[in-house]
Amino acid sequence: METTLTTDLKTHNEARQGEAFAPFKVDETLYRKRFYIESYGCAMNFADSEVVASILHGKGFGATKNCEEADLIFINTCSIREKAESTVRKRLTEFKKLKKANPGILVGVLGCMAERLKEKFLQEEKLVDMVVGPDAYRSLPGLIEDAETGQKAVNVLLSRDETYADIAPIRLNSNGVNAFVSIMRGCNNMCSFCVVPFTRGRERSRDAASILNECRELFENGYREVTLLGQNVDSYHWTAPHSIDGIVDEPVTFAKLLEMVALISPLLRVRFSTSHPKDITDEVLFTIAKYDNICNYIHLPVQSGSSRVLQMMNRTYSREWYIAKVNRIREIIPDCGVSTDMITGFCTETEEDHQQSLSLMEYCHYDLAYMYFYSERPGTLAARRFADDVPEAVKKRRLQEMVELHRMHSLQSMQKDVGKTFKVLVEGFSKKTEADLHGRTDQNKVVVFPKENFQKGDYVIVNIHSCTAGTLLGKALSCAI
Ligand code: SF4
Repeated sequence: METTLTTDLKTHNEARQGEAFAPFKVDETLYRKRFYIESYGCAMNFADSEVVASILHGKGFGATKNCEEADLIFINTCSIREKAESTVRKRLTEFKKLKKANPGILVGVLGCMAERLKEKFLQEEKLVDMVVGPDAYRSLPGLIEDAETGQKAVNVLLSRDETYADIAPIRLNSNGVNAFVSIMRGCNNMCSFCVVPFTRGRERSRDAASILNECRELFENGYREVTLLGQNVDSYHWTAPHSIDGIVDEPVTFAKLLEMVALISPLLRVRFSTSHPKDITDEVLFTIAKYDNICNYIHLPVQSGSSRVLQMMNRTYSREWYIAKVNRIREIIPDCGVSTDMITGFCTETEEDHQQSLSLMEYCHYDLAYMYFYSERPGTLAARRFADDVPEAVKKRRLQEMVELHRMHSLQSMQKDVGKTFKVLVEGFSKKTEADLHGRTDQNKVVVFPKENFQKGDYVIVNIHSCTAGTLLGKALSCAI
């Protein structure tokens, strides 16, 4: 969650002058003031912090990885659960000490919590000088000028068309192999438990040409994997005001965009997140099946296994409908990895509803699952309509049961791969030793194997000889390309 960037300024600026995309390294000591940015929450927030870094760079601010050296401290916040917000408040308390030692420091809060609380943030957290919502990052330089004069600066206007399409994200903490590319912002679904539509606004799709340019630029600079990001990527829909590569005025759907990115090079792996079950089409599934370099992995949040609870969550599909979608995925892409999000303890959830969530997990046998207990978010439909009536102890017990069930499924999913051979994209050294490398399979499973002469960015054919609950262990057979 820190920013570290060090090399020459000239390359960066030339690229920025010429092309919109030059997301690489800069010598921070060349800058008059330095910023420190810390990000929390989903991949969209991390991608946004890269846009913020670029905007600040463009205005002569350099980055530092050490908040004690910073003139500006930014925290890019998440509001998805109460716990996420309390983490931010705790962190702000630590920054208070820094500000006491150096009153000249400016502190800014960005992201969803900033958007949810708006000016109230300034009353609740006196050390905060700037409150900036996810659609207002272009105004940061002006807000900093205001704050430098001692004013409190706020911009939490949501936009119907802001996508930062022309801003070259600066890759923070990048391994130089995989990168996030945001393709759309906001969400039009109104899941009753979710704060995102209120903190990130209405859905808008980014200009397809700018997405292609960014992916092409990343590939030309050695990146070998892009993850296309959006709250609900399947509803990506962009109508070209002009022709793209000779395709005239054809609306660009998500399936079309996936294909266009995949055609940049067979060496560029393509992933995407997040899908809403109601919007993932056969066209998308057949496109994934058609291109080897589009990964056979789909994150398909279900949230609950009970149709009654799904209705209260306003998820717009039933248990049966969701199961049919998972069947369809496995029919068209037999070895597809599937992961999900699950919430336990939603308003009025009965033991029977909970058992339905467990049995759905049993049926889908997810390779990966993110599981939480329900955390009421102020201002959401659920907070306005339903009582948060499941006791916390029950929520936690149900969550524990879910975690235990999934732990078993994920181990079985790993064990099933022992003896098989996979094409792995190397992302770097393993956490444990530099004698080993780590990377991921198409299905997004982590693989660790002895380094030999391979390196980051290589595609390696690895034979799996054993596994742990979270990692496949193998031996390299050859370089895939
Ligand atoms: S799809 Fe639902 S859960 Fe996901 S961001 Fe949109 S409103 Fe929230």
